[in-house]
Amino acid sequence: MNNLAIAIAELTVANLGSVLKNEPLSRHNTWRIGGPAAVFVEPVNAAQICRVVEIAGAYAVPLVVIGQGSNLLFDDQGVAGIVMKIGAKMAAVQVIGERIVAEGGVWVPQLALVSMRSGLSGLEHCIGIPGTLGGLVMMNGGSHRRGIGENIVTVDIVTSAGQQQTLSRKACEFSYRHSALQGSGCIVTGAELLCTPAQRSSIRREMLNDLRERRRKFPRKQPNCGSVFLSTAEMHASVGPPGKIIEEANLKSRRVGQAMVSAQHANFIVNLGSATAADVLALIAQIRTVVRHSIGFDLCCEVRYVSPQGEILPAHLRAAELAG
Ligand SMILES: Cc1cc2nc3c(=O)[nH]c(=O)nc-3n(C[C@H](O)[C@H](O)[C@H](O)COP(=O)(O)OP(=O)(O)OC[C@H]3O[C@@H](n4cnc5c(N)ncnc54)[C@H](O)[C@@H]3O)c2cc1C
Repeated sequence: MNNLAIAIAELTVANLGSVLKNEPLSRHNTWRIGGPAAVFVEPVNAAQICRVVEIAGAYAVPLVVIGQGSNLLFDDQGVAGIVMKIGAKMAAVQVIGERIVAEGGVWVPQLALVSMRSGLSGLEHCIGIPGTLGGLVMMNGGSHRRGIGENIVTVDIVTSAGQQQTLSRKACEFSYRHSALQGSGCIVTGAELLCTPAQRSSIRREMLNDLRERRRKFPRKQPNCGSVFLSTAEMHASVGPPGKIIEEANLKSRRVGQAMVSAQHANFIVNLGSATAADVLALIAQIRTVVRHSIGFDLCCEVRYVSPQGEILPAHLRAAELAG
């Protein structure tokens, strides 16, 4: 038996609940793209996560952690290792005064609704983000130029060595769509958030406005991964947002295979039905080339590509590699 087979056998006897072999990853991301995971697990608590980390380490098997897969592009070959989802099975939320204590798998719109019902302001900008708290913390996601890091008090993690730790906000080093957790191999199991008391009606109004705006601007019927390219404040000031740049380069509706630049919002790539990761990466490469030639700017991806070996990198790096 090779290492992967032994790791799968260990996971199967580790009493982790469901352990799925050859699970199609297209079921676990919002683009609906990707080959199979050799093994797919969904732990219910931090102790189980530690056990998975331990097994992956002991047999040197790739381990990829995911939430809703709303910022991920899996390779067509899938992942030759363990994919561990922190999702609905770890989604408890508790409100204590002005603080919200939540597990990493809670769906972000659900968390935002809890804050609204508790008369707590601060998470209004998150209502339309279809990811988990763990993914949001990792990416310091948010909207209207805000990030979840602003509300974080502490983050609970399992380290790459399988140890449980609690980090302060300072230790997470949040900056625009970035945190020190990225690339550290740690797994977010939960977080404590601090909000501000406010009228439920005004929080609700702000959330409804945000959702209305998203429905108007973003494609909803075709699978997508949200904004493909990163939009920083410096970029806004010098060349404008990626959607505008791509639209002005006449790339709306540009297609490679079944992947297409959305006709509605040019920073979205939609899956027309059976798009492959190769289609999306080739389209990303084409967009970057055209934009570089037209305005001399190198677009970088917010979306992360996951390789068959379990590496996670900004998708434009893989697109550039493939384009040669
Ligand atoms: C329609 C649409 C709209 C969107 N709008 C926004 C927006 O307004 N603002 C915004 O910031 N993003 C937006 N996104 C992108 C995405 O929803 C966010 O980046 C979200 O935070 C990702 O969460 P996830 O659970 O899906 O993470 P995934 O996509 O599953 O993973 C993203 C990264 O986080 C890591 N990760 C996930 N969970 C954990 C965990 N528990 N512990 C450690 N690492 C983990 C993964 O390894 C990966 O590196 C949008 C996406 C879509 C499809």
